[in-house]
Order: sequence, then C-alpha cells, then structure tokens
Amino acid sequence: MELIGIFGGTFNPIHNGHLVLAQTVLDTLHCTQIRVIPAAVPPHKETPAVTAQHRAAMVQLAIQDHPKFVLDTCELERQGTSYTIETLHLLRRCFPDQALCLMMGQDSYQKLPSWRRWLELLDYCHVLVVHRADRDNTLLLHAEHEGKLIDIAAAPTAFAQQANGLISFLPVTPPDISSTRIREQLAHNDHATIAEIPPQVLRYIQQHHLYQQSN
Ligand code: ATP
Repeated sequence: MELIGIFGGTFNPIHNGHLVLAQTVLDTLHCTQIRVIPAAVPPHKETPAVTAQHRAAMVQLAIQDHPKFVLDTCELERQGTSYTIETLHLLRRCFPDQALCLMMGQDSYQKLPSWRRWLELLDYCHVLVVHRADRDNTLLLHAEHEGKLIDIAAAPTAFAQQANGLISFLPVTPPDISSTRIREQLAHNDHATIAEIPPQVLRYIQQHHLYQQSN
C-alpha cells in the first residue's frame, strides 16, 4: 500500500530541524509524499502573531526543492482551532486506499494525552515519533509497555501493510533547533539563526519584517 507522511506543526517559522525530520522519515519509511500542514490556530500554543498565510508561504519556500514534500493548507481553509483529529478525518476521505503516517517530535508525543480525541488518532493513521534533543521520553516507554510500539526496523513494511494503528520510534536526532529560539534570535538581531533556516525563508522574513521585537 502507498504510505503518505503527515507533518503538522505551527512552523513559526519552519526551520532545518523540521526539514531534517521530514527527510529522515521519508527516507526511512519510503513514503511517496510528505504533506506539510501548518496549523492556522494551534490548540496547544498561543495564536502566533505571524499569520498562518505567512507561515504557509515560508513552508512553501522551504520545500520548493523537495519534490516529495507538499504544502497542504487544509487547516487554513477551515474555521476555528486546528485539531489534528479533524485533519486526519479529512485526509482519510481524500486518501481512502493509502496508509497514513503522522510524524512528530518526541515533545509533541509526550503531550498527546492533551490532544482532542487522542485515543482515536490510531484509527486514522500510524504514528512515528522522532527523537528530539533533551526531551522527555516517558510516554513512549508506556506505549512500549502496552505492546503498541513496533521496532523501527519493522516499520517500513508494517506501516505499508495496513492503513493505520501502529506506533514506532525513530532514534535519530534532528539538529537541536527550535522555532522559539529562532524567534528570540531574530528579535535580537542575532545572526546565529542564519544557519538554522533555509536562506529563502530568511529572505522572506526580512522582506516582510517578521519576528521583529514588536511582532
Ligand atoms: P516552538 O519552539 O515554537 O515550540 P518547534 O520548533 O517545536 O516550535 P513546531 O512547528 O511546533 O516547531 O514543530 C512541529 C513538529 O516538529 C513537532 O512535532 C515537533 O516536535 C517537531 N520538531 C520541531 N523541531 C524539531 C527538532 N529540532 N527535532 C525533532 N523534532 C522537531
């Protein structure tokens, strides 16, 4: 079965950690595409001062040279909070015959029990958790204990054999970059950020005067 990767986030802004994560998942699971889905109104964070349109434009620029990465604006097109379960419901209707794999960093996985209808997520997709530097790991150990976790070596085949329902952990650590730190550095004119975001995204940020002290 074809396997499609789903990568949601605030992407405020998108950075090289996101891109390495998505590329590593693509290479590991042999996905046919990765759908990158910016949240319009993220449920677990303050609504970003930078609009969803700007954040989506930066995603589009960042993935322009990656033919298998696709910007999906479905969360921008609907009203209200961007709940992942609703996005998965929609994607399942668009891709009825494909396996779906939701990817996330370890910090997001750790917060899963606070997500809307989180126990239903596996009814729609598989979940691949990617290691993130210096983040808590206890919930994964719980999944392992419950026998839900499959070894990453088995995941490429297992994820493509059924449409949803499995969890795996990818013990690869993308570069230790966070959007929060990038926003702080940009607000303080700290050029350490330059190496952490694609140059075309940095140009967009400068052209639109984003992440200055006031926004
Ligand atoms: P912020 O610092 O504003 O919280 P972020 O850098 O975590 O943002 P998000 O857009 O919230 O970026 O992240 C989307 C997804 O990418 C989440 O599942 C997050 O765990 C994952 N992620 C982001 N950066 C990394 C990284 N450097 N390593 C591993 N996972 C990451």
